Formats: sequence, C-alpha cells, structure tokens
Amino acid sequence: MKLLKFGGTSLASAKKFLCVANIIEQNIRSEQTAVVLSAPAKITNYLVSIIETITQENKTLDIINLTETVFINLIKDLSKIQSNFPFLKIKNIINKEFNRLKQIIHGVMLLQQCPDSIRAIIISRGEILSIYIMKSILKSKNYNVTVINPIKQLVSSGTYLDSTINIIESKKRIENMTIDKDDIILMPGFIAGNEKQELSVLGRNGSDYSAAVLAVCLNAKICEIWTDVDGVFTCDPREVSNAYLLKSISYKEAMELSYFGAKVLHPRTIEPIAKFKIPCVIKNTNNPNSSGTVICSSNFSKEKRLKGVTHLDHIMMLHVSVLLTKKMNNIISRILNIMSQNNIKIILITQSSSQNKINFCILKDKTNLALSSLNKELQLELKNCLLKPFKVTKNLSILSVVGSDIYKKNNIASKIFSSLGNSKINVLAIAQGSSKHSISVVIKTKNILNAVRNVHDILFYNKKIIHVFLIGIGGVGGTLLKQILRQHTFLNINNIEIKIRIIANSKKILISNDTIDLLHWEKDFQKTTEEFNIKKLNNIIQNHCCTNSVIIDCTSDELLSEQYINFLYSGFHIIASNKKANTSKWEYYQEIRNAVSKTNKKFLYETNVGAGLPVIETIQNLFKTGDKLIRFKGILSGSLSFIFGKLEEGVLLSKATQEARKLGFTEPNPCDDLSGIDVARKLLILAREAGHKIELKNIKIEPLLPITFKKHKDVNKFLVELKKLDAHFLQLINKALDSGNVLRYVGTIEETGECFIKLEEVNVNDPLYKIKNGENALAFYTNYYQSIPLVLRGYGAGNNVTASGVFSDLLRILS
Ligand code: ADP
Ligand code: ASP
Ligand code: MG
Repeated sequence: MKLLKFGGTSLASAKKFLCVANIIEQNIRSEQTAVVLSAPAKITNYLVSIIETITQENKTLDIINLTETVFINLIKDLSKIQSNFPFLKIKNIINKEFNRLKQIIHGVMLLQQCPDSIRAIIISRGEILSIYIMKSILKSKNYNVTVINPIKQLVSSGTYLDSTINIIESKKRIENMTIDKDDIILMPGFIAGNEKQELSVLGRNGSDYSAAVLAVCLNAKICEIWTDVDGVFTCDPREVSNAYLLKSISYKEAMELSYFGAKVLHPRTIEPIAKFKIPCVIKNTNNPNSSGTVICSSNFSKEKRLKGVTHLDHIMMLHVSVLLTKKMNNIISRILNIMSQNNIKIILITQSSSQNKINFCILKDKTNLALSSLNKELQLELKNCLLKPFKVTKNLSILSVVGSDIYKKNNIASKIFSSLGNSKINVLAIAQGSSKHSISVVIKTKNILNAVRNVHDILFYNKKIIHVFLIGIGGVGGTLLKQILRQHTFLNINNIEIKIRIIANSKKILISNDTIDLLHWEKDFQKTTEEFNIKKLNNIIQNHCCTNSVIIDCTSDELLSEQYINFLYSGFHIIASNKKANTSKWEYYQEIRNAVSKTNKKFLYETNVGAGLPVIETIQNLFKTGDKLIRFKGILSGSLSFIFGKLEEGVLLSKATQEARKLGFTEPNPCDDLSGIDVARKLLILAREAGHKIELKNIKIEPLLPITFKKHKDVNKFLVELKKLDAHFLQLINKALDSGNVLRYVGTIEETGECFIKLEEVNVNDPLYKIKNGENALAFYTNYYQSIPLVLRGYGAGNNVTASGVFSDLLRILS
C-alpha cells in the first residue's frame, strides 16, 4: 500500500486535477494506492473569509458565490478535456453543497456568531468537493473507488478547529473496513470526527497530518506528499532564491522545520509516520520526475549538515516579572497550567539570568485569551504586588535554524548573531538548547524576511554577497551596471555575487527583495511607477540592510550627500563618485570620517579625483605610512586637458571647446568646465587627504573666463560669446610656444596648504608638458618622492574609466 497526498496547490485547476489523476493511475499499476486530497488552492481561505464577513451580508454572499463559481468553472473545464466527465451530476452536488452553506450562514447571521463546530463544517467544504470531483474523474476512467469518511473513521480529540487524531482507535476502525484490494482509496484531508462523530478539523494545512495518519492506519509502506515545490528546501524557495533542495532529512529535523514555520509540512505530520517508521517523500506535482526529499530516521538520512532556516510569524511575547524570586518556580508552573487549560500553545520561553523574569511567545490571536486568563487566575498575586502587570510585545516573528545536534556546532550561533548584527536587526529573545535541533531568535516581523535571507546566506551559501543600492544611472551608473553584467563569469569564478537591490534616479526607484535582473533592468526601470525621494530611500534602507550592503552614489546631488552619516549608521558602506560630501563644510567632512570609524563601514570615493586612476588609495597609503606632501601639481580636468592640447595645435579656443563638447569630454554646458570649479573641488579633496583643514572658498581660482565675460546658460550662445576670447588665447599660446613652453591649467597645493588653480606656462621638463587629449596627470612631490615626483597619468574622465573605478571600490568592500 502506498499513500499519496495532494495539496491545494496540486488541485488549483482542471488540468491539475487531471495531472493528479495521472499520477494516481501510474501508482496503482504497481500497488494499491490511497489518496488524500486538500481543497483546491485558495478555497479554504475563501471559506474562512465567509465567516469573517458575516456582519456584512452582501460581502458574505459575494464570497459564497465566488467560491461556487470557482468549482463550477473547474468542472466545466474538466468536462471540456475529459468528455465523459459527469458534469451535470457534479454540478448538482456543488449547487447542493453551496445551498446548504447559504442556509448555515443564514443561521450564523441570525445568531451573530459562529460556533467552532459550525466553523469547522464551513471551512472543510473544499476537501469534500475535491473528493467528489476526483472520484468522478477516476470512475470515468473506469477505476473502482472507495471513499473513507474521516468523520467516522478518524477519531479526534481536542477542539473543533485544531483537533488531534487518536491513531490506535482510528487504525482499528480502518482495519475493520472492507476495502476491495483493487479499489483506489480516497479520503478528504483536514477532517476528522470527535467521539460524538461531529466534524472537527486538524488546523490549517492539516491534510498533511491526515495523510500521515491514514498511512499508519493502512500500514502503507510509504507516504508521499505532493505539492508545488521539488521538496524541502533550506528555506522557503519562494522567499529565498538561493535556497536549495535537501535530498533527505530526519524525522526530527522535519518536525523542527515544520514546527518553526516551514509550511511545506503541517507540524503534526511527522509524529505518526516517525512512530511507525514510515518513510515520507515530498514531491512536486508540476515536476513528477524530480526525486524530492526523503524524510526518514536519522540513521538513513545521509546529509549531516545544517538543514534550514524557517520563520514563524504572528507571534506576540508576554513578559512576566515576579518580585519575589523564591516564588518564581511556582508562578512559572501556574502560568504553564493556565496556558494549557486554555489550549494556548507556548512556542518559546526564556528566563532572565536574575531569575525573576520570564518571557514567552504565543500566537497573536491568543493574546486576549492569554491576558484575560492570566489576570483572572493570578489576580491575588497582582493585587499584592508579587507580580508586575503583564506586558506584551506584538508584531514578532521567530527565526529558527534547524540541524541535527546543532548545539554541538558552536560557530553556528555566532554566525547567526553576526549576520543579524550586520543587518542592524535586534534580537528580543534567544532559545538554544531546549531542543537539540534548533536555535531560535525572536525579532520584529518587519525584519523577518531580511533576517531569514541574511542568516540563510551566511549559513548555506558559500558566496560572498554584496548588496548594491545604486542611485544615479546616468553615464557612470549605467555603465557600472553594464560592467557588472559583463563580469558575471569572473565574479562567479571568484565566488562573488553582486545583488542589485535598488536602482534609482532623481525621479523613480526600482526595488527588488532579491536582485534586479541586469539583463533587462532598463525595461523594468521604465515600467516602474515608484517615485524616488530621500525619505523613501531612508525607509527602504532601514529594513533592508544586509551584511555587505553598499549605497553607490553616482549622482552629483548635494541633498543625497548630506545623508551619508545616516547611511553609515544604518549599516551601509558608501561608494561615491559624487564629490559633494568631500567638498562640503569641514565639519561634515570630519563627521563622516567619525561615523566611518564608529560604524566600521567603508566610505570609498576613488573616482572623486582622476576618475578611474588609482589616486586616493595611493596617496592614502603614502600618508598612512608617514610620507608628507611637499607640493602637488596636476591637470585635473579631462576637458581642459583636451582643449589646451588643441590650442597648441593652432585650433581656436571656441572651436576646441566645441570639439571637446562633441566628444563628450565636457559638462553639458562647457562654461562649467571653463569656470574651474570642478578642478577646485578635486584640488580640495586632495588637499584634505594631505591633512589640510581647508574649505572650497580657500582655493584660489584664476578663472579662464574674464569676470566681464557673459556666462550664457544657453550653450550655443555661450559658444558664440566664446569666440570673443579666441584672439586673446591665440596670443597667449603663441607667446608660450615662442619660449618652447605650452599652456596648462594647473592645480597646485603648497606644503602650507595654500591651493590655487591658474593658467601656467609649462616647460618641456615638466611632467605636465605632455598632458593633452583628455589625459589627467597628478604629480606628488613628497618626502619619499623627490626630486622626481610620483606621477599618476591617464584618462581622467569618461564613463568607462569612472565606472570601473566605482566597480573596483565595490570589490574593495570585501577586502
Ligand atoms: P500544499 O497546498 O501542497 O499543501 P503549501 O502551500 O501548504 O502546499 O506548502 C508548500 C509551500 O511551502 C511551498 O510553495 C513553499 O512556498 C512553502 N515552504 C515553506 N518553507 C519551505 C521549505 N523549507 N521547503 C519547501 N517549501 C517551503
Ligand atoms: N485546505 C486546508 C487549508 O488550506 C487544509 C490543507 O490544505 O492542508 O488549510
Ligand atoms: Mg499544505
């Protein structure tokens, strides 16, 4: 005998019903098969919401009609595919069921409340109809079918909505049934019957439990749970994309995983099959050939490593504080009693080291019941101040890591906590040791998905992950994304994964909980309607910080640069091609450095000077090791380097500027390049690196454009106006050439910290003499590098070099 259970996800449409029928047919060829079915997907939720809306008559009727239509459409589709399907007969049955449901609801509305016994009847209709439909499919394929009525055969105790099955008694009853050995056995899941043979249900997701019990009752040699995933994964694969399939797990591990929230199995499923040593296999109805996950005794479960990360939501924590420590044991046992008398399950419990406080977690829908019963039963203690009033913390979740003998692996706990710490997630309570197979932490629900992903990554994923939050997708940001995509293989070989979590420009933001696909990010970005603003960005980063989270600022936005301290304290590294932070007031410049050292995060801005040239890191290393700047001289503007190169070839200033603009060397309006302010910013950044406490206003700029020159905002007008300076520059360049020199717009830092930018004649021995065509050159005269300076030379502008500078900063996050 073999037992197959199909969940709601396997019965979501006519096609899926037929697919299930096929799987059943294949199995009965080799041996007798019993089948447990759930309600089709979503149906139980609809039935629950019928009860929840009984105060709004119209809404209730709408949901009833909608649910009925789902079934009618399903059998309509079935009869289209399978011509001998008895459509009218089943339609009648469905109509009758829903008419009965309407009558029940009518009564419930009059009563203005729904007793649990009636609630159980209502929410179990889906399973009943699934069986009618499957029975008809199999019969029309000429199979004989026996249907087991679980109200009569599965004896339950406990509440109507969360009952437990008496296996011994149920086994006796089923063994007494006469079932033809050629029959396919069908039974609706989720349902049982109490001693009075009244219908009870087994708790949400309870058909897995029905299947396990029936497998025991029929002495099945295997219990297969068919669902919509390939088996049990290290995490819910719908929430964590890099979760991987477990080939086998032990009963104990499966029990722990499901108890702490892995929805793939109902928590009570394992107990019966473990007791009777029936192996259980989780399989995928949509992928029947995959081997699935085998759940069996630990001796046979080969994989010894950690098994998974789960979460249980809708939790609240009750805090009990006793004033007399001596009474603690007594109080704890009374509290446990009160909880069990009221059928309130304590999921996790912790006690403070001072022994006068305990915290315990229960499901949030039991909060009122728990508080009212505790207040009632312990009123004397409360009145006499032996107990402080009970406090509750709501909106909590429990994250658990499951694995055999996990307590023996002492680095697991430290990894979990460092991952949560890096993600800025507070832990409210910890439980390790109560079970040998799990470590659990209580955290706020708003952090749970982030926490699960991070803990899973650190424990199960052997790649180094960087989470990128990119703002600015103009030339540099856009090219950076292309470069990351192109380097995919290199990153893979080196075990690095770059997850792009957000992409934003000044107007819109594209967000992903995992990673934005770089193959089509532009299309996805076009489609997004989510507006971008700093407030939204701050909200996102509060809840999405992970180990190695980086904000990359490829904008020139001052407002964004004012948020850097906030970003650092929220757990983010910062990479900026934006120069605004480093050229802001000295106090803010210093505050950022303080925040960097307090948070242990990185602030990298290699591209602030010389684009991709390795300037900042090089001089930081020099100064760190005791060198001192004596003098700096450099050409720090790609556009001006190009323009002055052209001048010495005899091209006029206006023409050279126009050409530079065409080649993309200049700012949108070349007036900004010629004003010298961008060069001044770079000089300021270098001077500050050398230890000088100066401001932008301290940099003396000898402007290329006379003060009287009209700085048109309109580019074309500006270029026309520029012609007026052609003759003057021609004269200057000729004068320089006559003496064997060239003209360069040079930034200088003196040992005293004095900084200036001016047009200089440069002779043939100067390292700046040959710098043209958009090249930058930086000559550092230092204690170690003199009289020949350290010269860094190369293209100092352009999207490719700048993006590659940002990219290399990004990889430095891992160093
Ligand atoms: P069914 O309708 O077949 O009973 P469920 O929705 O109850 O299906 O359970 C299957 C779902 O369980 C999967 O779709 C998956 O999202 C979820 N799940 C949660 N944790 C895990 C896990 N560790 N491994 C596999 N699936 C999981
Ligand atoms: N149909 C029930 C539910 O949705 C039982 C089950 O699917 O296991 O909870
Ligand atoms: Mg289920």
